[in-house]
Amino acid sequence: MNKLKLFIFLASLVIIYACQSNFDHGEGGSKEKQSIAADHKTESESAPGSKTSEINPKYKDLPDSKKTESEESKTNNELVSQKTVYLTFDDGPTSATTDILDTLNHFNAKATFFMLEPSMRELPEVVNKIAEEGHAVGLHGVTHNLYKFYKTEQSALEEMTTAQQALQSITGIQSNLIRTPYGSVPYLTESYREVLDSNGFKLWDWNVDSSDWSLSNDEYVDTVIGQIEELVNAGVAPIILMHDRANTADHLSTLLTYLSDHGFQTKRIEESTQPYNFNCYQRCHRLSSKE
Ligand SMILES: [Zn+2]
Repeated sequence: MNKLKLFIFLASLVIIYACQSNFDHGEGGSKEKQSIAADHKTESESAPGSKTSEINPKYKDLPDSKKTESEESKTNNELVSQKTVYLTFDDGPTSATTDILDTLNHFNAKATFFMLEPSMRELPEVVNKIAEEGHAVGLHGVTHNLYKFYKTEQSALEEMTTAQQALQSITGIQSNLIRTPYGSVPYLTESYREVLDSNGFKLWDWNVDSSDWSLSNDEYVDTVIGQIEELVNAGVAPIILMHDRANTADHLSTLLTYLSDHGFQTKRIEESTQPYNFNCYQRCHRLSSKE
């Protein structure tokens, strides 16, 4: 009888130990996935093309743990499950913008344009067309010159305020959406961010760099598609950086065909959309005159 009790006791211990180690393994796996996803987010800012193919192979398979995270991540999960993509165009308007608008219109796609003040003054009818066709209008400053824009907190603020006033005088729209020249890292230090933020501006960077300014023909389209696939596998909604350039306009229909064929929905950035910024991760520093 005692031997039987001892056997049952030992068997119970084995079962409890087996359950415990299985539980630890599951939780550990989930944490590992999250940390890979977080790392990917960082890498995608500076080095697109990192490996994430093992993470969340399908949209619908987002881990439950993500759904209980912050409101921001809930919002992102909703965007990902809707296959949301943000198309953004910088440095316009230019002579290429009308072609870009025609192609967007053809695919019933929506985009966001971050525009420069002198270009808006030069092509006000194009600025109006962008707004009338239902795209979001944002600000990219005045000079697009590193040394002038990032000189002081006040110079950055003044460039955005000047662009904001130009846009308002042309369209009647007061936009607070901004993208700083060359992106916020490394020269937009915390004090710059605070000044822009306290003046109501909403800063947007990107997580897909098309490199459309340096690639020829349709090469940028493959670059973008590769990054989109990695981001959606990682459960992140793509924000694509492009420019108002003739070559970009010429091959935009190839990209929009891909998005349409794969069930993506393009959305404009709203003032209420949670902004996406690059994180400094101690890389940010004030621009020195030697750089
Ligand atoms: Zn730019």
